[in-house]
Amino acid sequence: MNSKKILVVEDNEDTREILLYRLRSMGSYEVLLASNGKEALEMAARARPDLIIMDLKMPVMDGWDATKELRRTEWGKDLPVIALTAQAMERDEQKALDAGCSDYIAKPILDYAILRKKIEKFLGDNRQS
Ligand SMILES: [Mg+2]
Repeated sequence: MNSKKILVVEDNEDTREILLYRLRSMGSYEVLLASNGKEALEMAARARPDLIIMDLKMPVMDGWDATKELRRTEWGKDLPVIALTAQAMERDEQKALDAGCSDYIAKPILDYAILRKKIEKFLGDNRQS
């Protein structure tokens, strides 16, 4: 069975590691990590992930710009992108959707079942039965 690839783009190392751990416990996903939008675009062009979890505020290239760039590529125009927004920043959520993100979830993530549902909405149920 081919595992689905999820690219996590997050500049905060702790958040990145937590997401890596949580995603691995959710199903048989292959998890890739990037720490800014530029790195994410380069990695995604090579590795062609099935879904991207994208922080918005990052150095070098932020998540809004990276998503806009991604949407201009043939391979990335329909790729599911879940934005990580700051808690209670409603403008960030709208800006994320305007930039082409498919969905969003607020950080810090308190309930990982919600993230799992969002991922499975795009990738299907990936748990081994
Ligand atoms: Mg950040």
